[in-house]
Amino acid sequence: MTNHDIQVSVLGLGEMGGALAAALVAAGHPVTVWNRSPRKADPLVARGARAAATAGDAVRAARLVIVCLLDDDSVREVLEPLADDLAGRTLVNVTTTTPAQSREMAEWADRVGAAYLDGGIMAVPPMIGRPGASVLYSGSADAFHEHRHLLDLWGSSTYFGADAGLASLYDLALLAGMYVMFAGFAHGAAMVAPAGVTAGEFAAMAAPWLTAMTGAFEGFAAVIDGGDYTVPGQQSLEFSDLTYLVAASADQGVSTEVVAMVQRLVQRQVDAGHGKEGFARIIESIRRPG
Ligand code: NDP
Repeated sequence: MTNHDIQVSVLGLGEMGGALAAALVAAGHPVTVWNRSPRKADPLVARGARAAATAGDAVRAARLVIVCLLDDDSVREVLEPLADDLAGRTLVNVTTTTPAQSREMAEWADRVGAAYLDGGIMAVPPMIGRPGASVLYSGSADAFHEHRHLLDLWGSSTYFGADAGLASLYDLALLAGMYVMFAGFAHGAAMVAPAGVTAGEFAAMAAPWLTAMTGAFEGFAAVIDGGDYTVPGQQSLEFSDLTYLVAASADQGVSTEVVAMVQRLVQRQVDAGHGKEGFARIIESIRRPG
């Protein structure tokens, strides 16, 4: 059987599910699609997909079933009545869930006799099928390897292991970094706004600065993994005092929440007597909630 003979069904044709289904159709796969609001199938049908009237029809139409719904609740609402139909099929769930929800879904799939692969999409819909898109997977290794060529149509595919929660864990850990960085950008933009600087002007400065700063991750990681925060050549926690930053934010009349959060992480380590050690040590404040 060639890869193009594999029948695929996609449940959920929102922004992301629609993009995933479109990539499969464009690659020539026979694709059956289903969405709660049926009109969203129309553009895909126009390109060659087959619309199923019900989620059950879609599941029964294919050995490989892709699910991209809003959240864990909607996945359960749609799939639980279809337990018997899912037996013997492979379920790839790329809906964003917590690691615990992913593991529970894997256990449920195991009970109903379906192979289960969980996915975390590191892309926005227009990136699907283009360079830069990445999808993280965990769960059934057989499912990942058997369908790898198809999964690679969406972006680069990385498999983390049999624990179905791992893809979600990496996904959410990466999103944590993204959201805190976005909050940092918003904070800076708010700080300079009273000086007549537009967010666009600030973005033009912030993007190359933050990009350059990601070069520090490797050094922090080496110190964290080495477990010795006294390694010479690091910026110390005392030097990383954010007092001026917090004061300047207040002077500008903006919230200090974003920078005060980082200041607290630093201060806990300074208070514990580690002020001369490297900035990477703030991970200890995060590892041991205060
Ligand atoms: P949308 O809001 O565009 O689509 C949500 C989909 O879920 C729709 O198909 C909607 O159906 C369906 N749905 C919601 N509730 C139910 C329900 N109770 N029963 C049946 N269907 C339901 O979201 P996206 O497509 O953007 O996101 C889908 C998943 O992909 C999410 O988990 C999201 O976190 C993840 N993701 C999205 C990214 C993005 O940038 N968009 C990036 C990375 C991951 P209907 O059309 O009928 O409302």
